[in-house]
Formats: sequence, structure tokens, C-alpha cells
Amino acid sequence: MSNIMEVKFSAKSENESLARVIVASFAAKLDPTLDEMADIKTAVSEAVTNAIIHGYDEDESKFVYLRCEIEENIIKIVIEDRGNGIEDIQMAMQPLYTSKPELERSGMGFTVMESFMDGVAVSSIKGDGTKIVMTK
Ligand code: ATP
Ligand code: MG
Repeated sequence: MSNIMEVKFSAKSENESLARVIVASFAAKLDPTLDEMADIKTAVSEAVTNAIIHGYDEDESKFVYLRCEIEENIIKIVIEDRGNGIEDIQMAMQPLYTSKPELERSGMGFTVMESFMDGVAVSSIKGDGTKIVMTK
């Protein structure tokens, strides 16, 4: 039997830490190591930050959608925004690529997600939004 959790929160930067804590407590029943827990929290932070900054251009009236599912010792984390979308996903995922160098972003968010999680799948439609599915 799988275990599922869903939450929707305002696209405010203060909710990045909320999302991290929610996922961490949900993931706790998998009994992860401290390292695994830190990896999950960092990956969640990166995806949520992207949704807020890139998806919504920091429009706090918008919402970020978070869904987690645990099945057979694997956690699946889905982070979704209904914002700007990504035109070229392959380019966006290149290490060091950022569309906002003026905000001093380093363009390493996707690289961090990919190195800390076992699977990262990105789907996005320009003008429609972005969905990140991560597994560990
Ligand atoms: P960093 O994460 O290092 O601060 P960054 O956010 O620019 O910098 P990535 O997280 O790797 O780097 O994202 C790369 C690019 O992909 C972003 O600059 C942005 O253009 C695009 N992107 C990522 N997530 C989204 C999203 N949710 N909506 C729209 N565009 C996105
Ligand atoms: Mg980023």
C-alpha cells in the first residue's frame, strides 16, 4: 500500500523551508540516513526555489503544488508550478545555465537535483507551467 501526501502553498520564499520540513517528515518513515535526508531536502529546496523565482517571477499570489508518494521504500516527490514554463528543457538543465544571471543565480539547481536524487524528470510547457518529478 502506498502513502500519499499533497500540499499547496503560496509562492513565497519563506515557504521553501516549509516544503523542506514537510517532505523531510514525510520521508522519515523510510528511515533514511542523515545524508539521504539532507539530499532530499536540498533537492526540494532547489525545485521550490525554481518554481517561485523562474515559474512565477516571485508573484506571491501564485501557488506551488507539492506531492509525495512512498511506495516500496522509494519516495517520489512532485513539485509543480502553473507559471512561465521552460522553452528548452535540455538547455535549462545544462550545468551553469541560468536565465537570470542578474539575480546572481549560478545555474546549478538542476545539476544539484540530479546529483542528489536517483531520478529527476522535468516536463514543462511554455506559458503553462513546470513539473519536476524526483525519486530516491
Ligand atoms: P541556481 O539554481 O543555481 O540558483 P538557476 O535557478 O538559474 O540557478 P537551475 O535551477 O539549474 O539554475 O535552472 C536553470 C534554468 O531553468 C533557470 O535559469 C530557468 O531559466 C529554468 N527554470 C528552472 N525551473 C523553472 C521553472 N519552474 N519555471 C520556469 N523556468 C525554470
Ligand atoms: Mg535554480
